[in-house]
Amino acid sequence: MRLFKPSAALLPLYLIHARGGSGLSARAVLSIRRALTARTSALCLNADHDEPRSGLTPSNTLAETIFALSSGGGRAGVSVIRISGPQAREVLLQMAPGRQGAAELPPPRQAVLRRLRQPSEHGGGCGDRGGEGPPAELIDQALVLWFPGPRSFTGEDVVELHTHGSRAVVAATLGALNSIRGLRLAEPGEFTRQAFSNGRMSLTEVEGLGDLINSDTEEQRKQALAQMEGVQRRVFEGWRETLLGSLAHTEALIDFGEDADDVTEAALSGAVSRVRSLRAEMAARLRDGERGEAVRDGVRLAILGPPNAGKSSLLNALAARDAAIVSPTAGTTRDVVSLTLELGGLPVVVSDTAGLRAETADEIERQGMARAAKEAARAHLQLWVYDALAPPQSAEQLEAALASARAGAEQEPQQAEPQKLLLLNKVDLLPEGTASASAFFAADRQWGVSCLTGEGVQDFLTSLAEIVKRQYGADEREPALVTRARHVQHLTACVKALDAFVELAQLGDGAPLDIATEELRTAVNELGKITGRVDVEELLDVIFRDFCIGK
Ligand code: GDP
Repeated sequence: MRLFKPSAALLPLYLIHARGGSGLSARAVLSIRRALTARTSALCLNADHDEPRSGLTPSNTLAETIFALSSGGGRAGVSVIRISGPQAREVLLQMAPGRQGAAELPPPRQAVLRRLRQPSEHGGGCGDRGGEGPPAELIDQALVLWFPGPRSFTGEDVVELHTHGSRAVVAATLGALNSIRGLRLAEPGEFTRQAFSNGRMSLTEVEGLGDLINSDTEEQRKQALAQMEGVQRRVFEGWRETLLGSLAHTEALIDFGEDADDVTEAALSGAVSRVRSLRAEMAARLRDGERGEAVRDGVRLAILGPPNAGKSSLLNALAARDAAIVSPTAGTTRDVVSLTLELGGLPVVVSDTAGLRAETADEIERQGMARAAKEAARAHLQLWVYDALAPPQSAEQLEAALASARAGAEQEPQQAEPQKLLLLNKVDLLPEGTASASAFFAADRQWGVSCLTGEGVQDFLTSLAEIVKRQYGADEREPALVTRARHVQHLTACVKALDAFVELAQLGDGAPLDIATEELRTAVNELGKITGRVDVEELLDVIFRDFCIGK
């Protein structure tokens, strides 16, 4: 075997090349090379520890042991204090030893009741557990759990102390831990960061955990849980594996292109067709991405319509509080007023906007209308509110109202076409026995209500919850893959690189395969950034910032 530098100058890694005298067939050589490429391209901190990424210190080399209150602050039945790092074991033996102070670890991952004592005063060294002198001061009785690394949340040795949840017990325990040399209070999200650095979690799982902790609604909980359990990671990494295979094939083509035509031609067309079908799958999941983001960040619903139709009254009725100014004078809601409701298990961000009318001489009102138009463009749902005595006469009427509001205002890039719903308000003013409806809305997309009397409001909310849930709710059979703008960004870049690869690879004889291969490598990298397999140092601070201390 010989070691040589690959012919393609763009290859980042030197690969072992076996052929000729090695007695191996071209196909065998190809598969060895593919395996090597897959292995070396997969080089990352998460996969194994022998090649840490620059800038990220694997925490198994950290001297420090961290601790924090992991349950919420304030008085509670129980508080959980977590300790993670190389000294965790000694801390446990010193502060919560076995019977008669015996240095006895509890069985791993099993809760045992122990007396929790102040650590020894001998300089924080955790060795003084013997029977000399009086026992150290008692802090509490606590349930103690011992999680030896690497099979722990952080991958380090972890101890959990479940103490009584009084402020005094927590303060005494944290104070005791702080007095031990080498221990320090954890930064926000630091336990999770240790878990990520030690390869216990991918970045998408970390994000899922963060979302789970922050979840307010049922659908958010379900989506975050699926993400934390690795549903996304498995899909993204499956795609990445497939692309790595195609990358190995095209790299082989560059090296052996001249002397193994049969193998290499087939390898290239195989790679192109695999990339094509993968690209289609990615594009489909990207289109579906709206669902994941809506669950996480909320479904945006804009209340639109002419002045005085009752838009502010509706928002107030929804909020059951005075969230927006209600006044009989036209044009009072000049800014956008929002509130978040939970509907169908999802957060729905409802925005009241300035009334839309064709003409206004008032500059401030014009600005309010421009903001309303902006809100309408970024909404998932447009809820048009009209007076039941004057329902809209044509679909164009709505468009015309928005067009005049948009005039002169900066255009928002239009998202997917918002769905339009109609609310006919003030049904209390309709003559006895009459109803109001618009011919331009489907029957299940319009409702008659009175914000004044409350009539119909509950029925409307029930239908709206169903619409929201059906359209944006988490699908348990196929959880959303894309839940953050970050995912959209990397996946879009990946699809773009795959398009470029296919285009270049299909140029026939003389196709610039080295450049095509580089595109494929970009695509692999973009996928790796989503799960944190490749260098994402610059992202980590942003992602872990959302965590609290103790997580
Ligand atoms: P906006 O300009 O569309 O936000 O409308 P407002 O919510 O400020 O309401 C305009 C006027 O209509 C106010 O005087 C409200 O009290 C009145 N109003 C709102 N809803 C109803 C309703 O259901 N019935 C009646 N009779 N009056 C209403």
